Amino acid sequence: MEEAIIDTVTAEPLNFDLEEPFEIASGKKPKIENVFVKLTLKSGIEGYGEASPLEPINGENQSTVIAAIRSLSDFLKGKDVTDYKEISERMKSLLWAQASARAAVEMAILDALTKTRGESLWDYYGGAEDTIVTDYTISIVEPDTARKQAKKLSEKGFETLKTKVGKGDEEDLERLNAVSEGAPGCKLNIDANEGFDAEEAVAFTRKLEDLGVKLNLFEQPVKRYDIEGLKKVKEEIDVAVAADEAAFFLSDVRKIVEMRAANVVNIKLMKSGLKEGQEIANLCKENGIDLMVGCMLESMLGMTASVLFASGIGGFKYIDLDPRPEVFTAPFKGGAKLEGNRYKDINGVRPGHGIELE
Ligand SMILES: [Mg+2]
Repeated sequence: MEEAIIDTVTAEPLNFDLEEPFEIASGKKPKIENVFVKLTLKSGIEGYGEASPLEPINGENQSTVIAAIRSLSDFLKGKDVTDYKEISERMKSLLWAQASARAAVEMAILDALTKTRGESLWDYYGGAEDTIVTDYTISIVEPDTARKQAKKLSEKGFETLKTKVGKGDEEDLERLNAVSEGAPGCKLNIDANEGFDAEEAVAFTRKLEDLGVKLNLFEQPVKRYDIEGLKKVKEEIDVAVAADEAAFFLSDVRKIVEMRAANVVNIKLMKSGLKEGQEIANLCKENGIDLMVGCMLESMLGMTASVLFASGIGGFKYIDLDPRPEVFTAPFKGGAKLEGNRYKDINGVRPGHGIELE
């Protein structure tokens, strides 16, 4: 298709100031430094993509993402976006470690492709669910602040809260206890971001049980390469265990499936990219692994792509697509809208992923 030929691809910084730094066990981020990708077809149709690199998670930052995408521009120029899958595979062989850079390009390609076909990205993925319900993440903050935030979120209608866990010390226990007290009706997910070894993770879960704090999900308790440890935690605690950092690529998830090392796989477009993310979802479904969808620090551009991905495919049991309030300053309109804890009327988000420049 002549009109579906890529003419130009550009990558520019997309920055947001944070009111408070974003802190997880593996690092602190004082501001959001994402990348905006614009791809223009010969037909004039534009596709938009976003990368949200988080150094301690995926080893990329804004500068490396921009350099990676600019280095791909010669390769991309002249390609037909209807060959999306082949382009995606070739990009992975060229820049396998630059996952969020590749994801942003894939997002822009699929946006342009679905716009060209007059469909939405949600249709592309199967159009399974018109509404999805997200949790909300409480950062590593003082227990009192956590209690207040939990109460407020519960009053706003959130049914599941997620909190980050640091070192598994007294402070973590107090914070989780405070969240549980502030929102007793909410399910509680925790994410250690690789902070424990298997024994520590099991001991920490027992301590929470003793405090009467009931967990719904324990995400990435151990180091990403410690699949044996992940399996051990899964077998020893009575809480669903999710692989996140341990599940970047399809090859990682194949191993997790083979070893039955997790109950849940957290798919993030910024880790797997869009094509491989879809393959991971299929593999998990075929093997009875529950699906989770997560995010980094995307604006509503990247967030919308994840919303359409998960709701289009359908069957995601855990949804962790909670945008930081600061990103609403982005120069975009359209896309998925979060009302309280749900993205509704997803069928109406179109064409492509529905995001337009303001
Ligand atoms: Mg996580």
